[in-house]
Amino acid sequence: MTCIRHMFSKRPRLKVGRLLGAALTSCRCFHAELVRPESSGLPVVHHSQYVCDLPANHRFPMEKFPRVLHFLIKDQVITEKQVWVPEIASEELLRGVHTEEYLNNFINGKINEQEQRRTGFPWSEGIVRRCRYETGGTVLAAEVALHRGLACSTAGGTHHAFPSFGSGFCLLNDLAVAAKCLISSSPRRKVLIVDLDVHQGDGTAFIFKEEPCVFTFSVHCGKNFPLRKQQSDLDVSVEDGLEDKEYLSTVEAHLPSLLETFRPDLVLYDAGVDPHWEDELGRLRLTDQGLYRRDLYVMKTVVSRGIPVAAVIGGGYSRDIDKLALRHSIVHRAATQVWRECGM
Ligand SMILES: [Zn+2]
Repeated sequence: MTCIRHMFSKRPRLKVGRLLGAALTSCRCFHAELVRPESSGLPVVHHSQYVCDLPANHRFPMEKFPRVLHFLIKDQVITEKQVWVPEIASEELLRGVHTEEYLNNFINGKINEQEQRRTGFPWSEGIVRRCRYETGGTVLAAEVALHRGLACSTAGGTHHAFPSFGSGFCLLNDLAVAAKCLISSSPRRKVLIVDLDVHQGDGTAFIFKEEPCVFTFSVHCGKNFPLRKQQSDLDVSVEDGLEDKEYLSTVEAHLPSLLETFRPDLVLYDAGVDPHWEDELGRLRLTDQGLYRRDLYVMKTVVSRGIPVAAVIGGGYSRDIDKLALRHSIVHRAATQVWRECGM
């Protein structure tokens, strides 16, 4: 593949301190609470507050988030110096996507029983905090990617959240907040959201249905949640039981032409691992190797065209937390390969 060192060297290679200062003047969304020394490795965004307590036996695998970082460091995929720590997403930032009423109710615990059932989570101060840090993480990954070419968070991809309500384990739409922040801070900027989580990114599709600067592309299992789909700019609905080869051909059939025609300035990539054959909520049959090839293909294809990518982990469901966290770390491993091969 083409070496992209020269492509990104044309972009300003800012020191972190300057990056933060520049970002703050152009867009108040972007900032980090901890200034990191410049590391030559893939930037990985993580916060210890990505996680919160849930009732015993709750089916959402909340403990996976710190385990993803644990395995990346233990397996020497990254070092701690590569970790960027986001700030909590401000209410101002969230108002770019969510309604005033919803944010007020969500932040202050005025979500009724029925609304809580729809989200799958009982309300708590902890869940509000974790969602806001997760959103801050996706925003930071996007900003770091603009300057470094590639960045990954260890959470994110809450694509079922709508402006005025949460749904399907998603309370704030981090992808939408990040995309909105990117287009607001630079009027001609275009963002492509590549959503390969097994479920349709219905909240994101709804939020950007009238927004020409954001293109939503979703490949999902047609018979899976949500029952009532929204219309993305490009929806590819696949059948139950799809395996690696056919799945990859599906992605390959659409991504290059989208990049050529829409010409995004940044890609937000939702690398959900729920298309995996062992996933409790997915209905497809991808293997670990298939997911790796998918992530590698997406990031290489985009980055080799000089377009930055910010990746989030998306959905993944298993009672075996370590197995699941390792599966989620596939995207960071693939990103590390792209980073090295491309001399970024
Ligand atoms: Zn999913």
